[in-house]
Amino acid sequence: MNHNILVLIVEDDASVRNLMKTTMKANGYRYITAENGNLAIMEAASHKPDIMLLDIGLPDIDGIEVIEKIRSWSNIPIIVISARSDDEDKIEALDAGADDYLTKPFSVDELLARIRVTERRLEYIGAFKAEEPCLVNGRLRIDYSAGCVFLDDEELHLTLIEYKLLCIFSKNLGKVLTYTYITKEIWGQCTESNIASMRVYMTSLRKKIEVKDKPVQYIQTHIGIGYRMMKV
Ligand code: CA
Repeated sequence: MNHNILVLIVEDDASVRNLMKTTMKANGYRYITAENGNLAIMEAASHKPDIMLLDIGLPDIDGIEVIEKIRSWSNIPIIVISARSDDEDKIEALDAGADDYLTKPFSVDELLARIRVTERRLEYIGAFKAEEPCLVNGRLRIDYSAGCVFLDDEELHLTLIEYKLLCIFSKNLGKVLTYTYITKEIWGQCTESNIASMRVYMTSLRKKIEVKDKPVQYIQTHIGIGYRMMKV
């Protein structure tokens, strides 16, 4: 398969890096590699890759710092790779602007699945311009200019917060959003009580938008981290 996608692999562990290289090659992706953070920034700037796979624990500068630096000039999708015990790292990385995360040790299938989600996100960004007043995702249609949401042809009655939540998710389709990100977008700050409210609104929003027989069609829960809306 030819994806015409260039993947930047950032990983200091040679065995993991080789596994990723082999996987990319076998699945028709073009790739370049970097074994530390400073090289990663240089490669990202000079080759303009389409997707970046970024190990968080790097020998020179922290993966979070790499994300922050790259985010100052690029929207390239970044999939962070970190050890299972480092939930805090994942959250910090997502808040710094990473799109998704993968936990070590990961399987080749998991890696490819994350890349496919990111590819769909890229296609979506390419097809959908921010100025467009409407988003259609499966049976769901959001009319941003009118502030209306429809499931099939039936208008849904959402509260203001439910509608704001849906807009935040739909404008970040395919991207994992943390509790901190979501609560800051809605209330301007992330407190315990804001997170508790967000959960209540998420439950009510989901009841309204999810199709009954497929309960997690649109929004995925990432336990302890946040949520993601999928392109269906
Ligand atoms: Ca490492």
